[in-house]
Amino acid sequence: MATGLSEVDNMKTWPDLYLPTLDSNDFPTLKLKDSNSGDLKAIMGDSFKMYVCGITPYDATHLGHAATYLSFDLINRYKRLSGSKVSFVENITDIDDPLFERANRDKIDWQFLANAQIDLYKSDMTALRILPPTNFAKVTDSIDIIEKFIQKLSHNGQLYEISGDHYFSVEPFLEKLPLQVDAAISIFAERGGDPTRAGKKHPLDPVIWLANRNNEPGWQSNLGFGRPGWHVECTAIACEFLDDKNSDPIIDLQGGGSDLIFPHHFMSAQIVKAAYGRDFAKYFVHAAMIGLDGEKMSKSKGNLVFVSKLLEAKVDPMAIRWALLKGHYQEDRAWSNELLKTADLEINQIRRSLSQSEVSDSTELVSGLIFDISNNLDTPSALKRLLDWSRKSDNNGDVNQTGLVSRAIDSLLGLAL
Ligand code: ZN
Repeated sequence: MATGLSEVDNMKTWPDLYLPTLDSNDFPTLKLKDSNSGDLKAIMGDSFKMYVCGITPYDATHLGHAATYLSFDLINRYKRLSGSKVSFVENITDIDDPLFERANRDKIDWQFLANAQIDLYKSDMTALRILPPTNFAKVTDSIDIIEKFIQKLSHNGQLYEISGDHYFSVEPFLEKLPLQVDAAISIFAERGGDPTRAGKKHPLDPVIWLANRNNEPGWQSNLGFGRPGWHVECTAIACEFLDDKNSDPIIDLQGGGSDLIFPHHFMSAQIVKAAYGRDFAKYFVHAAMIGLDGEKMSKSKGNLVFVSKLLEAKVDPMAIRWALLKGHYQEDRAWSNELLKTADLEINQIRRSLSQSEVSDSTELVSGLIFDISNNLDTPSALKRLLDWSRKSDNNGDVNQTGLVSRAIDSLLGLAL
């Protein structure tokens, strides 16, 4: 069923929301800009399988995360509203160097830290009205799945060992590299790769299984006692929940922040091809970065603004959602207090209209909002359209259609005003 409550595992994910239907409207085919081709692509299909890379739970949820998950939430909403059955999987990278480093620094148990941050993330997602994934998979709960996937790579002769660590040989797939090798090596090093390690067949080969180091958590596997590498965690989880064994590509869309395009999503695609002989995803879609004071918001810059802190300060979560929707999801943009203040004023303007018994004609507004979202999630146009309608309603409201507008902005934009 396209709308209503989806089948989610409520023990692991956050509470589902009712998605009001918009029965009477035509839904143009969703078009999204694909990061690999740079083209706007029609996202076809009555059954839609989406995998979005989740957080590493040492620090949840800054506004860059929120903007990313909000973008894929709009895709999920639009596909469901337009009649597709959506299967949406998101992982939690709860085995990762930054998590262990933070736990060591703060002298707390890494699982305690991860679980606390996962709980915080779920409450942030709930407050922001992000629809939950159908499967929300922790890596620590998925070791068997990952091991099974790694065995496929191993049987296909794609892995080699250096001192107990196992690497994937990416060289046969390098013609698909989206950038020059030198540039790729430099980004690979910045984002957790080890291009200079002695004994590697190619500097870009990613680690698939890491032998246990001192004091790190580990699991027993065919490749020894240790833990999986980052890229293979996502591919194994995605294929476990979304592969129907026939589709090629296996899933429709892989998504995440634009900092995942390389190496994470490139490596994911090559690893799946090597394991299954099929392509991983039909579309690769990425959300741009959120900046603060002229710089990208990131842990290394120490300039993170957390959703939970804003909520603690009694900021309206719908104002956060609105402020993020004011910019286009694929354009890097800045967060500021002014943006939040404007968002607050603007949602109050909309709330005023929605409390009037008579407003300006809303049928055209709703078709316009549907068109904007279908057009590569053009939320800046959608919010402008909504504000224009609201201001017009201030002067000459003559129809009783506030319910129609409330339902449309709730279902399409996730704004409960
Ligand atoms: Zn991932």
